[in-house]
Amino acid sequence: MAEAALSALRILPSVDRLLRHPDIAVLAEEHGRAEVTLAIRNTLATLREEARAGADIGEAMIAASVLSCLAMRAGTRLKPLFNLTGTVLHTNLGRAILAEEAVEAAAAAMRQAVSLEFDLDSGKRGERDDHVRALVCELTGAEDATLVNNNAAAVLIVLNTLSQNKEAIVSRGELIEIGGAFRMPEIMARAGARLREIGTTNRTHARDYANALGPETGLILKVHTSNYRVEGFTAEVGARELAAIAQRQNVPLVNDLGSGTLIDLSRFGLRKEPTVREAVEEGADLVTFSGDKLLGGPQAGFIVGRKDLIAAINRNPMKRALRVDKVRLAACEATLKLYRDPDRLAERLPTMRFLSRPAEEIRQQAERLLGIMMDTLEDVAVEIVSCRSQIGSGALPLDTIPSFGLSLKPKGGGRAVEELSAAFRSLSQPVIGRVAEGALIFDLRCLDNEALFRQNLSSLRFREGR
Ligand SMILES: *Cc1c(COP(=O)(O)O)cnc(C)c1O
Repeated sequence: MAEAALSALRILPSVDRLLRHPDIAVLAEEHGRAEVTLAIRNTLATLREEARAGADIGEAMIAASVLSCLAMRAGTRLKPLFNLTGTVLHTNLGRAILAEEAVEAAAAAMRQAVSLEFDLDSGKRGERDDHVRALVCELTGAEDATLVNNNAAAVLIVLNTLSQNKEAIVSRGELIEIGGAFRMPEIMARAGARLREIGTTNRTHARDYANALGPETGLILKVHTSNYRVEGFTAEVGARELAAIAQRQNVPLVNDLGSGTLIDLSRFGLRKEPTVREAVEEGADLVTFSGDKLLGGPQAGFIVGRKDLIAAINRNPMKRALRVDKVRLAACEATLKLYRDPDRLAERLPTMRFLSRPAEEIRQQAERLLGIMMDTLEDVAVEIVSCRSQIGSGALPLDTIPSFGLSLKPKGGGRAVEELSAAFRSLSQPVIGRVAEGALIFDLRCLDNEALFRQNLSSLRFREGR
């Protein structure tokens, strides 16, 4: 190593000396001594290379680097953002946004002790499911209900409870995969159930079920094909007919609804999805569905149906591992209560509000934002476009809802679009859209806080070719 570089290394100040530097000493108040020491070490490690190369590194510059290192570490990784993808229930962006009522209930449960497993009437131990059981039964017509971590957990524990070391009968047309890790055959294997596939991909008949039933059968599983549709020359056995077949053999029928809604979506102008109440009425012994899809609550998995089967699930030691905590339970209760007043759901439940927003209202919002977007962006053609939103999370997979958005098309094309997307992603509250045909499209359906969106735009830095 050259003599000059060696001496440069020697002049990098020590950690102790830097801790006493006035610009750095004040940082310890905010971040704590341990955190500041770590930031100094990280900074010195990166500057050592430059010092070796002969760069002149002063203490003020080191202090500035320590500050930015601390700021980066203090920043939130799980960042609130604007979901302008046009997919209302976007799994990668956290699915449903909770109602204020649910947020408040969750916050209260976080701040205080709660009657989670404590019966206030008797003063004795209670059950955590009791807080939502009556409400879920009231809204679905089911006899009993329990709650687990998510719907995948619901399916897992149901299979394990009713068909461990036994056969679970499923139509080949319903062996679904939902986003990589959740594949019905694999969940079954983990639950200890033997998959008994019947019928074909496009056609399954009542006789296929009848022929498969036997002493080895643990349950019949019907799965809502939530993220695809089989069309053309098809046949499936309806839930009602299937319930009769199952009942004759005294085998439970489980209906995994996936999204599962509590109300008829046609009141919001959407196509009707089977409701949980209907699935119960059709004779399923158990019905499973998600908390954070169409229901609009926190991540959770509901299992509703026959009392004796719910009791068996609650006795399964797996329940202890899959149960929900007080925070989510509080948010679930508050969300479910909103369903007692369906007329105000669109006002109070963000998922329903977004799904039912009229296209014309969204177009007017696009008009309002067109000017500011044009002023903010140089060399980008901005226009209002009609587009189609999706529900997402495997609800009504082929249905789209007419919407409006802003199309941002950089004059430079392909690479510039990626740069523009990256610029929006790096805002203090990132804005996520989708790229289509050389343009970045922002579907405004889920843009709630327009004032914050405008304010956020002021820090956007994008110039082509930089
Ligand atoms: C989404 C879905 C699941 C999984 O539910 P999560 O709440 O995401 O765990 C299971 N089955 C069906 C049919 C689904 O659509």
